[in-house]
Amino acid sequence: LFITLEGPDGSGKTTQMDRLEEYLHRRGLAVERTREPGGTLLSEAIRRLLLEPSYSPVDARAELFLYAAARAQHVAERIRPALAAGKIVLCDRFSDSTLAYQGYGRQLGAELVERLNDLATGNLRPDITFLIDVPVAIGLGRRSGGSDRLEQEDLEFHRRVRQGYLDLARREPRRVHLIDGTPSPDVVWEEIKGILDARLER
Ligand code: C5P
Ligand code: MG
Repeated sequence: LFITLEGPDGSGKTTQMDRLEEYLHRRGLAVERTREPGGTLLSEAIRRLLLEPSYSPVDARAELFLYAAARAQHVAERIRPALAAGKIVLCDRFSDSTLAYQGYGRQLGAELVERLNDLATGNLRPDITFLIDVPVAIGLGRRSGGSDRLEQEDLEFHRRVRQGYLDLARREPRRVHLIDGTPSPDVVWEEIKGILDARLER
C-alpha cells in the first residue's frame, strides 16, 4: 500500500505523518516512511540544490527536471523495493506536488508535468493520497522557518499551487481525499484515521 500526503506549505503534513506512522506501527504493520524531494542520498542532495536560495532564479524547466530526477531515484531505490517487501510506504509529498507547484505554480501545465511524472516513476501512482487543504494566508502564516527558496514565492504563486491541488482532488476523488487542514491537528487526524481504517478493512 502506497500512501502519500500532500498539501501546501504550512498545511501540517509533517504532524499528520508522525501520527500516521505511529498509528500504523501500533497496528503492527511494517511501515517505510519517506519524503520528497529526498528519501535517498542522491535525492536528498538534489533537495539541497532545489531549496538553496542563492541559485535563484532557477529556470522552471530546470527545476521540474531536478524534481523528476530526485523522484526517479527515490522510486527505484526506496519506494518500489519497500512495496515489493510488503511494506506500507508513507511518503510526504510525491508526484502531485510537482503537478501543483511546477504545473500550476510555475505554470508549466498539467499535461507536461503528468507525462514527466509517469516517466520518472514508471507509472507508479499512490493508492491513497491525503490532501490537506488550508487557505493560502493560513498556510503561509504557519510556516516555521519560511526561508527556503520556494517559500519566498509570492502570494499568487501559492494561490495557483492550492488551485492545482483542488483541481486534482476534483479530478481524482477516489484516490485523493481532500481534508480540511484548518482545525486542530487532533481533528485533522480523526478524519485521516477514519478514511485509513475504512481502507485497511477492505
Ligand atoms: O514539504 P517540504 O517543506 O519538505 O518541501 C520543501 C519545499 O519544496 C517547500 O517549500 C515546497 O513548497 C517545495 N516544493 C516545490 N515543488 C515540489 C515539491 C516541493 O516547490 N514539487
Ligand atoms: Mg516546508
